[in-house]
Amino acid sequence: MRHESKLPNIETTIFAVMSGLANKYGALNLSQGYPNFKGDQKLYDLVNKAMNSGYNQYAHMYGCPELRLAIKNKIELLYNTSYDPETEITVTVGATQAIYTTISTFIHKDDEVIVFRPAYDSYIPSIEINGGIPISIQLKKPDFRVDWQEVKQKMSSKTKMIIINSPHNPSGTMLTHDDMLKLQELTKGTNIIILSDEVYEHLIFDDEKHHSACMFPDLKSRSFVVSSLGKTFHNTGWKIGYCCAPQDLMDEFRKLHQFTVFSVNHPTQKGIADYMEDPNSYLQLSEFFQKKRDLFLEHVKDSRFKFIPSKGTYFQLLDYSEITDENDFDFAKRLIVDHGVASIPTSVFNENKLDQKVLRFCFAKTDETLIKAGEILTKL
Ligand code: PMP
Ligand code: GLN
Repeated sequence: MRHESKLPNIETTIFAVMSGLANKYGALNLSQGYPNFKGDQKLYDLVNKAMNSGYNQYAHMYGCPELRLAIKNKIELLYNTSYDPETEITVTVGATQAIYTTISTFIHKDDEVIVFRPAYDSYIPSIEINGGIPISIQLKKPDFRVDWQEVKQKMSSKTKMIIINSPHNPSGTMLTHDDMLKLQELTKGTNIIILSDEVYEHLIFDDEKHHSACMFPDLKSRSFVVSSLGKTFHNTGWKIGYCCAPQDLMDEFRKLHQFTVFSVNHPTQKGIADYMEDPNSYLQLSEFFQKKRDLFLEHVKDSRFKFIPSKGTYFQLLDYSEITDENDFDFAKRLIVDHGVASIPTSVFNENKLDQKVLRFCFAKTDETLIKAGEILTKL
């Protein structure tokens, strides 16, 4: 059968490729971003309870009311602002669906979308399938800072959306308060929508602060703030996320959401809602993952890799330029096949696959895995 591909240049996602190789060669898998340990038993019990108490038919199409209320309460506690759970919060199949639906709802053919690279790999295909044009701004190692002058130059009358992601996957850097103010100033008076991917909002280290787009009134009025409950609570396989936006924007989003997804897994939503009644369920995550980051770094500090400690997310970049001049994909593959450690080559997230000689390692792993991986990396 003949057909014309709508995404002719898109390859299989790097996460499936590297995890596939890790499995094939029995490597320690620090590539794909998911924990290799169990979540909290209390949460599993609450999801089971919800299933046994009848939460098994279609959930409300905007999300189980108890969960939307729990999300509203979390945002009020953390960011001192509010969304109406009836009209401004929608539960989605992971953050991925929130991102895809937001882009599909607003991007028309030839609309431009500014994307900072390295970028999470679902953004560009989601733009292109809708006929949009990604306008890339490449960030550079080691600090991956945004040059707002460059953003201003790349903005035009065709700019319909800007996608930001803080804490940033894969670099582990964060947008500062000043960055958010600059973005607010640049977009003021425009019709530009901000898609703010904040899936790592609860994984913040040292003295850093997360500056959610919802904390800046003008940004809030034009933003979809996206988060991931699967990611937050160590159960990426549950694929539950959400987004928040002002009612006029959310009304449009929901037109599409109702006919692509309709509603999300019900007992899991109810279990998470009950679990979130205790704010410690998310408040203690930064400390937990900071210890993991520190353990991993302690075991690679004597290696030839160079690094700046991650400020947020559960990823750590390691710069291997003193070890080899191989391209990052070949080196990552060799690390799996010859040395038994899997990582993510970051060039796949860059414009024209720019190779900055950095690999991404996920430290959401057991202490034993992190120590073993560190020992292997130190011998290189
Ligand atoms: N955005 C970023 C930056 C991510 O790293 C991920 C992976 N968790 C997602 C979105 C997708 O999240 P989910 O698994 O909830 O779809
Ligand atoms: N967000 C995860 C990561 O960055 C992976 C998500 C996926 O596998 N699609 O590793």
